[in-house]
Formats: sequence, C-alpha cells, structure tokens
Amino acid sequence: MNSTDRANARRTACSEAVSRKTRKFNRPTGADGRPVRTADFFGCNTFSFQQMENALSPGDIEVLRGSAVKKEALTPKLAETVAHAVKEWALSRGASHYCHWFQPQTGATAEKHDSFLSFNSKGEAIDRFTGEELMRQEPDASSFPSGGRRSTFEARGYTVWDASSPMFLMETDSGLTLCIPSLFVSYSGEALDKKTPLLRSIQVLSDKASDSLKLLGEKDVNHVMATAGPEQEYFVIDNAFHALRPDLVLTGRTLIGKTPQRHQQLEDHYFGAIKPRILNFMMECEYELYKLGVPCKTRHNEVAPSQCETAPIFEFANVAADHNQLVIEVTKQVAKRHDLVALFNEKPFTEINGSGKHLNWSMADSLGRNLLNPGEDPHSNVQFLYFLTATIKAIHDSGHVLRMAVANPGNDFRLGANEAPPAIMSVFLGETLTHVLDSLVGESNGSPDKLSEINLDLARVPVVSRDNTDRNRTSPFAFTGNKFEFRALGSSASISYPLTFLNAAVAKSLSEMNERLRSTISGQTATEKDVLKLIKQVIKETKNIRFEGNNYSEEWHNEAEKRGLPNLRTTPDALKVLTDEDLIKDLSELGVMSKEEILARYNVKLERYNKIRMIEIDVLEELVSTHIYPAALAHQTAIAEMINQSKSAGAKISSQLTDSLNESVAVTESLSKDMVKLRNFSDKMHGFEEDDPKLGDLLADEGMELMEKVRQDSDKVESMVDDQLWSLPKYLEMLYLS
Ligand code: ADP
Ligand code: MG
Repeated sequence: MNSTDRANARRTACSEAVSRKTRKFNRPTGADGRPVRTADFFGCNTFSFQQMENALSPGDIEVLRGSAVKKEALTPKLAETVAHAVKEWALSRGASHYCHWFQPQTGATAEKHDSFLSFNSKGEAIDRFTGEELMRQEPDASSFPSGGRRSTFEARGYTVWDASSPMFLMETDSGLTLCIPSLFVSYSGEALDKKTPLLRSIQVLSDKASDSLKLLGEKDVNHVMATAGPEQEYFVIDNAFHALRPDLVLTGRTLIGKTPQRHQQLEDHYFGAIKPRILNFMMECEYELYKLGVPCKTRHNEVAPSQCETAPIFEFANVAADHNQLVIEVTKQVAKRHDLVALFNEKPFTEINGSGKHLNWSMADSLGRNLLNPGEDPHSNVQFLYFLTATIKAIHDSGHVLRMAVANPGNDFRLGANEAPPAIMSVFLGETLTHVLDSLVGESNGSPDKLSEINLDLARVPVVSRDNTDRNRTSPFAFTGNKFEFRALGSSASISYPLTFLNAAVAKSLSEMNERLRSTISGQTATEKDVLKLIKQVIKETKNIRFEGNNYSEEWHNEAEKRGLPNLRTTPDALKVLTDEDLIKDLSELGVMSKEEILARYNVKLERYNKIRMIEIDVLEELVSTHIYPAALAHQTAIAEMINQSKSAGAKISSQLTDSLNESVAVTESLSKDMVKLRNFSDKMHGFEEDDPKLGDLLADEGMELMEKVRQDSDKVESMVDDQLWSLPKYLEMLYLS
C-alpha cells in the first residue's frame, strides 16, 4: 500500500463515520404496545433477594443478607439450597452455562464458563449445579499476575462465591451465562484479586465505625456499610477511525496527533445536547445495565468533544465496585453495536481533557442513616463531626496512600495537569464547614453574621446545616454536602482498589479516635463534651491537610511543599508507598492485607506500569518508522523534485520554497534521530526484569521525555505535509466526525 492508498483508507473512514445510519434501539414494549417502564424490568437479569423469596426460607434470606457484613461462612446446606434455586431460575431464563466472575489484578474481570450439563446414574443428560460448584471453583489460573505469590508450578487459585453481591445473567445474542461474583484466593487463602481486600476493608470499617457509634451512645446499630457512587467518564469514537490507529488499538491512547485548532476552548461540549447517535448508544447501554440491576442515573456530555459521563445511584461499596466493572464492560460491548469504540484510557488524546472517575463515598449505618449527613439536632451533629474529622484525619495520615491507590500509567497525564486535581492530596470542606471547624477551635475569622448562625456553647453544640452550594472542582478530596468526593481516580481503574485503601484509612483513624476517647471516659459511652474535646484536638492536628483554594495554582504547590505534603508525580514514585513499613503494619493490623499481599501488589502494579510503557514505546517506534517518517520523506522529496524541475525549466526558485525544503529536511533528520533513540531506548528497557523499580524510574523519566520529544516532531510533520500523505486519522476527524 503506498501512502496515497493509506490516505484513501483514512478518507474512506471519514465518509463511513459521517454516513453511518443511527442504530435504532427498540425499547421493548408491553402487552399494550407501549414501551415498558424501567422499573418493570430493572434487575430482571439478577438473582435478587426478591427472586430468592420464591425459593428460600426467610431465615436463609436473612443469613444471606447478613453475609455482606458478617464473617461467618455460609453452610454447605444453604449453598446447596441457593445453588438449586439459582440454577432453576437461570435455566428458566434460558441460560446454559455458569461462571465464577472475579477481579484479578489485571484491572479487568475474568470468567471461566462451565455448562450445567451433567449425567445422572443412568447416563442420561441432565442439568446440575451443586452447592460446592456455587461455593468454589478451581480455575487453571496460572497466567494471572500474582506478584510472585503463586509460582506457575503450584498455580492453585480458587474462586470463592461472594454472597454479598448478586449473581446475574450476562446476555449475548446466542445465549445467557450465569455470572457468580467471586473472590480469587490462593490455596493458602492469600488474596490474589482486588475484591478480597475490599471486602476485608468493608468489614474493618464496619467494626470500627460501629464501635464509634456505641461510644457515642448509639445502642441499636450492628453494622456500618461504606457506600460508593462512581461518576464514569469515557470517550467514544467511530470504529473506522479506531481501526486505522495502531496506537489506539494497542495502547488505548494516541501516542501522536496534533490538537486541532478547535478543541474544548469554546466550552460548548460540557452538558451540551447529546448527538442522536451517541444518545441512542447511551440509552442502549443503560437498558442493558438496568437489566443487570445497575442503577444508572445521570448521563451527559463531558468537557472534551466526544466525551461522555454516566453516574449511578450510589450503592454499598462492594456492589458498586462490581457494577462499575459491568458499566465498563457493557459500555464497550454496546459501543461496538453502534460502530463506536468506547475509550476508557485516562488520556486518549493529548491537550484536551482526559477521563477520570469521581468516587463519591460515605458510610451508612444499619438503620440506613448516612453518617456524613449533618443532622438536624446537636446530638447527631456531634456524631457527624466525629465521622467528618475521622475522614479528614484519614487523608491527613494516609494521603500518600490514597495517591498511590489511584496511580496508573494513564492517570499520570491527568493528575497535576490542570484538568484533574494535583497528585498532592488535600481536603476541601467548603465555607460553612470550614467555619464550623475553625470556630470550634477558636480560629475562625469568618464574617460575624456567619458566626452568629453557629452556637458554640458546648452544652448546645453547633447545628451544621447541609451546604451543597460550595464547589471546588480542583480539590482531590472534597466534601459535597453529605459525602466525600474522591476526584483523583482514573477512568479505567477498578474502584475496588482506592475503596480498599480509603476504607482502611478511615477505619484506622476511627480506631485511633475511639481509643483516645475511651481513655478519657469512665463508662461505656462518652458525653458530648468528651467527644467535642477530642474532635477539637483532631481538627487542630489535621489542619495542614485542609485547603480551600485553587489546587491547580502554583501557589498551592509551593504552599503544600511548605506544609510537607507529599507530591508523588509518577506511578513508580507513588507505588513505592506500598513498601512503606508503616502502611504494611497498619494494613496487617487492620486485617486488610498481609505484608506478602501488599508487596505482591507492589510487584504487580509496577510490572504493569513498566509493561504498558514499554508497549507504548515500541508502538511509537513503529508508528514513526512506518507512518510518520515515510510521510516526512515523501514531503521532502516532493519539494526537492519541484525545485529540480523548476530549475531545469529555467524558473527562479523562491526563497520560500528553499525554506520549506530546509524545514522539511530538518524535521526528517530529527525524526530519523528519534527512531535511533527509540530503538536504543527499547533495547535498553528490554534488558531489565519487568518488575524492576529501576525500569519504572527509567520509563517515567527518560522514556516519557523521549516520547514527548518524538510526539512534537511528529506533530510538526502532521501540520506540514500534504494531507494526501497522512495515513492516520487526525484528531479533528476522530473527535468531531464520530
Ligand atoms: P454531583 O454534583 O457531584 O454530580 P450528585 O448528587 O449527582 O453530585 O452525586 C454524584 C454521585 O454521588 C452519584 O453517583 C450519587 O449516587 C453519589 N452519592 C450520593 N450520595 C452518596 C452517598 N451517601 N454515598 C456515596 N455516594 C453517594
Ligand atoms: Mg460529582
């Protein structure tokens, strides 16, 4: 194929993209011919408690409901009963297979299907599904990353049913599969996945927060659940463009590509009218997700062209984590039906906003009360302030850990790039709450009329009114009225990981506060005065983590440095936190992860970072050799030939023409040097062990610098050469013609 053919392929992609027929999504209709209401089919593909009611006793259902927060193992008898019930339900819906659906450390989900087919003693084919099969599977899972936890020759990993997240039917055109949310553990019980530590963190947070509530005089609470609502951002572009970009196909992001003159500066995409093609696609995603019991709530265009966002109604953290994985999977699948590709990489396009995932987080007690909801009366406000300051303390003590928890190669382009919060962790509270906390410790310089709203008399503690108006989009961890919003997550990340560390950090600070409180009181419960005294101490101790200003500004970076707040800029830097002795001690003591499990995660994450960057560098090298350099050369040749022809025809050569030639020669030379550098660098990087920390540092510094330099040269070529010579779909096309 010569370059003109390739440019033709690009042009064909453009005409395909603009002439696509919008795929019409026919919402099913009821007997009366009207579209069915969402509430009528919501969760129809999940084995919910309502489904169970037909088959299980109220006692059994009670045990299953409690399994989310209790440590007791389910009995084999109950497993047998559930297995039978779920099999009958799945078969009645047309399913033929089942799988344990789990979350290895790759970031995606994994599944291995088995059919229900079996034979009875007479050799007749029957459908069978036993309690044992529901409870446990032993996949040959030796190829999952384990960070050295499990060498291949003893690759015994088990998947174990997680009864706290509902089973569901995954539909494809040709059939249904029963998916059983599961944990993935080694023979000796070590967590090999993202979910096991999450469940442990949910458990320990429940224990510590329940203990706090008892100390605060609440007698009727028996557990506390972390709640989560992730706002998911992503891009969608036409499949025809995607197929012509090896960088998108292989790395999920464009490694080269000039930003068009118009990108997001007109600010017209955010909340703009959604194009019909995209809206149809989003509606079909939601339809599929509703059937799976995922409570999609909002949809809108995001800041960048071709960028969307969807957010669910919040749920218990464990279920929310499973559901977010389903959102990602289903979105990718449904996009294909519409000839679109959904991109979940954090930075698919340079210089325009990338995609993140705001993780809204709170705690709810067993009576359904949100513990971060400011109350109407003083007593509930003391309680609110206790959990609020405990969360602030968590960020104060473990900010670097939370920064680590959101580290991945794509997110390195966002954090600190003025589109997402910086890599420096801080807490934003808003004016009212800042004022309340400062007043409590006698430091408020708020306006007098604000002061008078808050009664600081200790006997009548402050009444904090819910304030939803304050918004600071630049803060990594912001209080938003009745929950915190952790804004530093990348779009591709499983929320399990940050949730685990956040739950653990808050559990740790609650535990410390509980002990401090306990040491100052005589009975079982503390007086409001005792509690407020501790709250005031914690407010003072954690002051330096609070920041209300612009987190993007230079001043904040300087100020944060003065305050001694860590600024871990790259993934390899952030991951080093996992080797921190204090973190290892804390997480082991809390029972969230053992030293071995933590260090295994360090190896897996670092190796993943290294492998991803190495793939990027090798793909870039090939892109330059096979697309960019040939285009630069062809351009140079064309000018040279024109000069020669003009000369032989006796025409005068304009200085502009010679300038163009010189410019072209310069960039072609620079590119040929780039190729040599990329090849040398590639040889060097492949000489390391893939989980070597030195490789991580090399890639994050020298590797990224080199990629940036090559990108600049390539973008120069793109803006210089005849459009006919350019083979890769341009930003303009991908972002505006999809
Ligand atoms: P925003 O202004 O940030 O868009 P929303 O009220 O739309 O705020 O909430 C964003 C997300 O926060 C939604 O997914 C929502 O369900 C979730 N959310 C609301 N309350 C809680 C809570 N108590 N715990 C966890 N997430 C919550
Ligand atoms: Mg939000």
